[in-house]
Amino acid sequence: MLRAMLTTTETLDTLLTSLVEQSRRGEAPSREQALRLLASGDDAVLDVVAAAGRVRRQFFGRRVKLNMLVNMKSGLCPEDCGYCSQRLGSAAEILKYSWITPEVAAETADRAVARGAKRVCLVASGRGPSDRDVEKVTDAIGVIKDQRPDVEVCVCLGLLKPDQAERLRDAGAMAYNHNLNTSEDHYADLCSTHTFADRVDTVERAKSAGLSPCSGAIFGTGESDSDIVDVAEQLRELGPDSVPINFLIPFEGTPLGGEWQLTPQRCLRILALFRFFFPDVEVRIAGGREIHLRTLQPLALHIANSIFLGDYLTSEGQPGGADLEMIADSGFVVEGMADQTLPGARHDLVTVRRRGPGTSEPANV
Ligand code: SF4
Repeated sequence: MLRAMLTTTETLDTLLTSLVEQSRRGEAPSREQALRLLASGDDAVLDVVAAAGRVRRQFFGRRVKLNMLVNMKSGLCPEDCGYCSQRLGSAAEILKYSWITPEVAAETADRAVARGAKRVCLVASGRGPSDRDVEKVTDAIGVIKDQRPDVEVCVCLGLLKPDQAERLRDAGAMAYNHNLNTSEDHYADLCSTHTFADRVDTVERAKSAGLSPCSGAIFGTGESDSDIVDVAEQLRELGPDSVPINFLIPFEGTPLGGEWQLTPQRCLRILALFRFFFPDVEVRIAGGREIHLRTLQPLALHIANSIFLGDYLTSEGQPGGADLEMIADSGFVVEGMADQTLPGARHDLVTVRRRGPGTSEPANV
């Protein structure tokens, strides 16, 4: 029995050592390694966190980047994503409103920056923006950048049509968020009104326009370990600069309202897997961290280098002051506007994408 336990421990130690070394060389985990990591037991979770933490510290030190959502339009979406409180037919009790004005968006962004946010994410529900919607957002970006020129503006408006990404970029947006959410195989279980391929197409449009691609996933929706590895591999192919990791908030009144499949330890293993897949990329803990990681949230900071501060789109997070205390108590520091988030080589890639090949001029990120 003791021998079996030691062998198991040695095997996990070897796996973690390999994953750390591969990540440092920029190599993704093999499928087998990824599945073994996800299947490792709760007893070993501190070893998993420590290994992922070594990679995190190498590329991001002890910095934590803060992001804040500005919900420009809420609810009333014609799409049917099963995890979303804003979906078609949702009976979830959320605020529903049409577009806020550019001034209100700028006030919200201003408050976010005053609380330490380096990036604001302008989000609107819907399948994708009309050209008039894009104009509303570009107007808001203009007011925000007038007031806070250094803040990173990310936009999340759903599926993009030709030229819309370029208009957002020209208005001053730095990034575009569109999550793949889950594996291609599991996608149809979550949504029938658009496809996984539609989502990939929008991430590629944003990237081609020179916007920094932000794309991540949501877990706790009934996906298998194999689906988790699939979406990590599929995201890696897209080359995002930031990867938000959401844990399902099971809203009553949505199809996934009763799904409570995650444990804090499983969330930590998923985050660690993404750190190994994306060693030098901003891995962000997004929705659901309070209800799924619960008191283990500080451990997650040893893996991810970025969090959303305060509230999510349609639910409240923990108060911003508690997040700042958690960061300080855990020995981390809030990343300042002047700090470069991404390590050198990846930062240079963002520069080339935004300004076109052949330039070495630093990007305004
Ligand atoms: S995730 Fe986006 S597209 Fe899907 S239902 Fe929610 S708001 Fe609509």
